[in-house]
Amino acid sequence: MALVKRKSDNVLLRTALENFYGAAEEMGLDEGITDILAHSERKTCVSVPVEMDDGSIQVFEGFRVAHNSAVGPAKGGVRFHQDVCLDECEALAFMMTWKCSLAGIPYGGGKGGVRVDALKLSKKELERLSRTYAARIEPVVGAWTDVPAPDVNTNGQVMTWFMDTISRMRGRLEPAIFTGKPIPLWGSKGRNAATGLGVATCAIEFMKALGKDIKGMKCAVMGFGNVGSFAAKTLAEAGAKVVAISDITGVYYSENGIDIAKAFKLIASNPKKLLTGLDKEPGVKMIDSIQTCDCDIFLPCALEGVITEKNAGDIKAKYIVEGANGPTTPEGDKILDQRGILVVPDFLANSGGVIGSYFEWCQDLGGFFWSEEDYNNRLLSIMKDNFKKVWDYAQEHNVKMRRAAFLAAIKRVADATEMRGVYL
Ligand code: GLU
Repeated sequence: MALVKRKSDNVLLRTALENFYGAAEEMGLDEGITDILAHSERKTCVSVPVEMDDGSIQVFEGFRVAHNSAVGPAKGGVRFHQDVCLDECEALAFMMTWKCSLAGIPYGGGKGGVRVDALKLSKKELERLSRTYAARIEPVVGAWTDVPAPDVNTNGQVMTWFMDTISRMRGRLEPAIFTGKPIPLWGSKGRNAATGLGVATCAIEFMKALGKDIKGMKCAVMGFGNVGSFAAKTLAEAGAKVVAISDITGVYYSENGIDIAKAFKLIASNPKKLLTGLDKEPGVKMIDSIQTCDCDIFLPCALEGVITEKNAGDIKAKYIVEGANGPTTPEGDKILDQRGILVVPDFLANSGGVIGSYFEWCQDLGGFFWSEEDYNNRLLSIMKDNFKKVWDYAQEHNVKMRRAAFLAAIKRVADATEMRGVYL
């Protein structure tokens, strides 16, 4: 029977499927294996009732998707955001499968989330939401089944509530079910900065591969959360000029470069960790669009779908390093390609986070903890090797880095799927 391709109206899932089918076809992947990999193993939907501070009850929708576990337990973050839906979680779980495969770590892909405007919740409401969500997904998570981690609007505190809730339910400590935990609670030194450090490392290696120096390069970093902030910091420390940063409060631009240490101080003193007031710094002004600002390297490190057919033609950067998951739509990607703009794809560029999570999981399972130096050295060496692998393949076969990364990632999962066989 001919392969019936899955389609979706959700932009992220459509992007994920189109990229996957394109690469699967190019590598001549068996249709049955293609079909297995185009579907998720498990999609869980839960309701999350929360007692609000005013005594009322609100019910939020929660999800957890395990896309594939051929190579190892599903792995991926949990996001709290008002746009979260099942299709988005599935698309992101899909991308986690390729990310973990490409990174060479023993995980499949998973993702979860709750549809909620987390910034509107009080700390107590956030705790009740986190604990109820954890309790509801308890049957489908575990150190050897599905291992969640932080993502948009979740952090070490949320992971602690998750771990504590499930440990109480099971009557034993379960540290290895969640990664991205605080250091005193079986977390790992280095995990917090790992994704951003990895994104910046990719940008630096990218410039090296092109025979250029990152020093003095104008970088624009979209998003100043866990990914963007540490990417900007690492780039600035390497001598790049970070001319623009942004968050939900707007885009801050300075042609002489933003003082990233100041931006860190500002978010540390802001209860919602926002950049409010950065435009009061000398030389900093607010601009409308970070995507189209004057820079050499653009690093989208916030949400998906920010490079589209509407703005890809106006992008001034010559290079893009995707810190966010799915920041470029297929239409946007085509335009970037036609314009000769080179892109380091998301599941290579932002894999530092999950590689760091893998280190944490190993330490939790073994009960033996590494120094930050060991952690960072191992992370940097894996990131550099993986970048080189994808870069060399792309050069050799004259394909885009996104395609090269997909081919390598799909092959490992397809081989494992074939070797394990279809369950009888
Ligand atoms: N949320 C991060 C990502 O999208 C980290 C996932 C993890 O560490 O499991 O890669």
